[in-house]
Amino acid sequence: MEMIYRSTRGDKKEFTASQAIIHGIADDGGLFVPDSIPEMDFTLDELCLMDYKETAYRVLRLFLTDYTDEELRSCIEKAYDDKFDTKEIAPVKEASGAYFLELYHGATIAFKDMALSILPHLMTTAAKKNGVKNDIVILTATSGDTGKAALAGFADVKGTQIIVFYPKDGVSPIQKKQMVTQKGDNTFVVGIEGNFDDAQTGVKKLFTDPELHKWMEEHGMQFSSANSINIGRLVPQIVYYFYAYSRLVKMSVIKKGEPVNFTVPTGNFGNILAAYYASRMGLPVGKLICASNENKVLYDFFGSGTYDRNREFILTSSPSMDILISSNLERLIYHISGNDPVKCAELMKKLSGNGKYEITDDMKAGLEKFYGGFANESECSRTIKDVFFTSKYLIDPHTAVAASVYFGYRDKTGDATPTVIDSTASPYKFTKSVLEAIAPDKVSADDFEMADRLSEISNVAIPEAVTGIRDAKILHTCICSVEDMKTTVMKRLS
Ligand SMILES: *Cc1c(COP(=O)(O)O)cnc(C)c1O
Repeated sequence: MEMIYRSTRGDKKEFTASQAIIHGIADDGGLFVPDSIPEMDFTLDELCLMDYKETAYRVLRLFLTDYTDEELRSCIEKAYDDKFDTKEIAPVKEASGAYFLELYHGATIAFKDMALSILPHLMTTAAKKNGVKNDIVILTATSGDTGKAALAGFADVKGTQIIVFYPKDGVSPIQKKQMVTQKGDNTFVVGIEGNFDDAQTGVKKLFTDPELHKWMEEHGMQFSSANSINIGRLVPQIVYYFYAYSRLVKMSVIKKGEPVNFTVPTGNFGNILAAYYASRMGLPVGKLICASNENKVLYDFFGSGTYDRNREFILTSSPSMDILISSNLERLIYHISGNDPVKCAELMKKLSGNGKYEITDDMKAGLEKFYGGFANESECSRTIKDVFFTSKYLIDPHTAVAASVYFGYRDKTGDATPTVIDSTASPYKFTKSVLEAIAPDKVSADDFEMADRLSEISNVAIPEAVTGIRDAKILHTCICSVEDMKTTVMKRLS
């Protein structure tokens, strides 16, 4: 059976998986959702025998039904190879009574690599399958990690160009250095005078600008998106929830069939949405614990049923979660409304109008699996310290937000269900915050020097992704205002 994808907002046009991946976002501004969430068609016994690639194959084929088995296997082979520094791809480590799922062993040491290693292959395969002759231009807004992971994935991929917008003062020095040193003739990196939401809203506008579309078409190009709204990002993220489950069985933490909780440090809601999909597919999941930093829009939403972005935007030490509009929540809203695009469109219109909407009581019932929590800056820092000094295990600030929320949840509820915490970035991506937490006297002005010190204290080797950019040349210096994004794009592509 072919899986059909449609907009969350009511556009009736139907897309196959590969068409949805090329398109990125629906023409009415909605996100693509499958007409039904498939059930897992393998047993937990079978799951526990699979390695990462096999798990990926078995999950992907349920959603990407118009790809041939051969195409999927080839994309998976190209994605999960020695770009990752461990054969396990996503190892699980026990520390402080929780199970950390390390999603940062790819090229750019953040969890975005899990999906962005495969997206370029899914996309170029999709273009071939659909006879697309245009060059594909990837437009991406980043809060820090997506940008570099997308650049690394698409650099020098034939038939593609990639343009990344980042908030010029809203990313860590290492994140910035990673992006502005990116090689590849088809890459373009632009700093925005604004925050991540400004960059994301700006990019969404470009995607739906009819004049720009026409201009692109005339020049033999078309846009697509590598942001987490692309279904080609979401589906590969479902894989590691199945994989983590099978590792816990292997570690004899659970028996097959017993539930596991997942705690996810959340920003744009893509990662935790993938966990929700895994649960809907039949994976035994207890609670989905959604952890926010001080930008706690989602915590408030899960508590009250009201989503309200009207508040101060706070820059924290977990910048990839500094987000007030969690784009992927739209897909959850759609599902809990009983797949009602009219209701979903109505709420999203309110969100873009006065920045706020409230869900119905019926919809609230659909949130039963979720638990929302948040951690402030000092809780985050204390958690990095506690986990390091009690378990000799180093975590980054994003992971620490999740760990803090989970420890609070465990104390409050007494829930003893084994819990996986998504570890979304290497501590070496955020050396300053990590050092401030465990050895404040070692903090210096130079991130690379701090990486050396962190390595001395922790005995964890500095990853190649950091040593490799240390002396790299800066290749991208473009800065523009939000208003000038369109002309900047047109100038670059001319
Ligand atoms: C992107 C990112 C997040 C947030 O993930 P979402 O899917 O946007 O919710 C958390 N931590 C890190 C390190 C990230 O890069």
